[in-house]
Amino acid sequence: MKIEYRREEEYIPVDVAAMRPKDSYRKTVEGRNYPVEQLIAEHGRIPDDFLHDRPCPTCGGEDCGLETEKEGLTLVRCRNCDLVYVNPVFDEAHYKEIYQAQNYQEIVRDLGEASHDYRVERFGKERVAIMQRHLPEHGAGPPHYLDVGCSTGFVVEAARDRGWEAMGIDLNPSAIAFGRARGLNLEQCGLDDLDLEPASLDAVSLFDVLEHIVNPQEILERAIRLLRPGGIVFIYVPNYDSASRLLLGKNAVFIWPTHHLTYYTVETLSDLLHRAGLTIEFTATEGLDLIDYMWWQREMEGQMKTAFLPRSRREALS
Ligand SMILES: [Zn+2]
Repeated sequence: MKIEYRREEEYIPVDVAAMRPKDSYRKTVEGRNYPVEQLIAEHGRIPDDFLHDRPCPTCGGEDCGLETEKEGLTLVRCRNCDLVYVNPVFDEAHYKEIYQAQNYQEIVRDLGEASHDYRVERFGKERVAIMQRHLPEHGAGPPHYLDVGCSTGFVVEAARDRGWEAMGIDLNPSAIAFGRARGLNLEQCGLDDLDLEPASLDAVSLFDVLEHIVNPQEILERAIRLLRPGGIVFIYVPNYDSASRLLLGKNAVFIWPTHHLTYYTVETLSDLLHRAGLTIEFTATEGLDLIDYMWWQREMEGQMKTAFLPRSRREALS
């Protein structure tokens, strides 16, 4: 699938310093594999009985080849549909535990709460504007919207401020408490525990969610059941074909197999969506990518190569 390139001046830069205040990024990177690192320290590797094989999360096929290994886990590529995914994986209960664990709450607190206002402005408003263009024709009343995996609710807040009937759910108790204190309609639960009328929503979003889920097809189907006819699902996932992965290989920050269990490209995500009966109206790829790469160099290696960036961007980073 062809994606249009955008001109440099059409892209709204991301202020990495506002998004990752103080020391939060380093702490995130250092703490991000807890408690798997403890397991490895104890046993030398992840013990086999903690892991189980899974079929391809898109096509259900079981014929896959080795893609790469990182942090004690293995990425494979499906020989049938080309999807890259972690296999074997922990069971679902383990992942739910991770996202409610103190350590993960602290990561989100450091990273998400201090940058909440910035995220509303830079990402929330942009995402709501994109959804607005694709909403079904509507009678009276505001659009009804649910953000699954809403974190502190920065997109929910942008939608509410635009007059939408907006709610969000997340497993992380401290992120939910933070958003609620701002008056947002948030609930601490997963989509399977949420009691909502089928066919009652105009839009459901899954921002940075599908890559975390053992069975993404199931959560997608649950989301679709909540939609009115013509309703939309809006999805963000890391792009396995992104510049950072092509430059850095498995050292790209988003290759994070303890948490990111599936690695989509435009093609493999489109395949999943088509199988779920969706029509694709809008596709884009953008994000931190090179900025992320340079930030990584500066934070983790104490140096940064910015020569290939325009002057305005270099200054923004310094
Ligand atoms: Zn497959």
